[in-house]
Amino acid sequence: MARVALVTGGSRGIGEAISKALKAEGYEVAATYAGNDEKAAAFTAETGIKTYKWNVADYDASAAGIAQIEADLGPIDTVVANAGITRDAMFHRMTPAQWKEVIDTNLTGVFNTVHPVWPGMRDRKFGRVIVISSINGQKGQAGQVNYAATKAGDLGIVKSLAQEGARFGITANAICPGYIATEMVMAIDEAVRDKIIAGIPAGRLGTPEEIARCVAFLASEDSGFINGSTISANGAQFFV
Ligand code: NDP
Repeated sequence: MARVALVTGGSRGIGEAISKALKAEGYEVAATYAGNDEKAAAFTAETGIKTYKWNVADYDASAAGIAQIEADLGPIDTVVANAGITRDAMFHRMTPAQWKEVIDTNLTGVFNTVHPVWPGMRDRKFGRVIVISSINGQKGQAGQVNYAATKAGDLGIVKSLAQEGARFGITANAICPGYIATEMVMAIDEAVRDKIIAGIPAGRLGTPEEIARCVAFLASEDSGFINGSTISANGAQFFV
């Protein structure tokens, strides 16, 4: 029977590429999204992948959505916590609302996504948890105190989950993408984006598919001894 994979934020951007890559590997994929119904419908029409709508910041909605997916497709053994947002501002201008929205979505959202599937993974003695963090969680970023805090938090989450899950055949790993050509990055002012690209030794943005290939590897049986790790995929930017 096909393994079942849940990809949050799986209907566009990096998540869309992840959903497609896992489907190509033979998974039954459930892709979630927050509110962009039009894009989700176009994605399903193109790929045949079912989409589910809920806010990852809401625990009860996550638990109910996950129960629905398991009723539709079977037990989830691969979870990709990908949904994320930015609400950038220099720290002295950052509002408590900007702080809270990013923490609730990017950090608590990971808890809300993984927690409901964890007991089943323990029972079945197999699981793959992959969290999409960010280079800015590794190095920090001016204007992103909220976002960097959540993405650094992801690394603590996977290292801790790895230690709890290893004896149950569960791995938990993070991927830290550098700048990837998605709407999130293409929305940045062109002059600023050009400066960003000039600072990437590879001389280009990454592609969503390059991140999806990392996810497919971490999801596979072959990666079973990689646990609590971080894959940096950033065109060498981190090492400048
Ligand atoms: P996009 O903005 O292109 O897509 C975000 C996806 O997440 C959408 O499907 C969106 O749903 C969903 N989403 C957003 N908020 C919520 C929520 N509250 N509940 C449920 N789903 C939600 O993002 P990217 O593809 O660029 O980013 C994906 C991940 O990769 C994020 O975690 C981001 O931080 C990380 N990342 C991205 C980088 C980049 O360069 N793009 C670099 C490093 C990390 P909807 O379509 O309905 O809005």
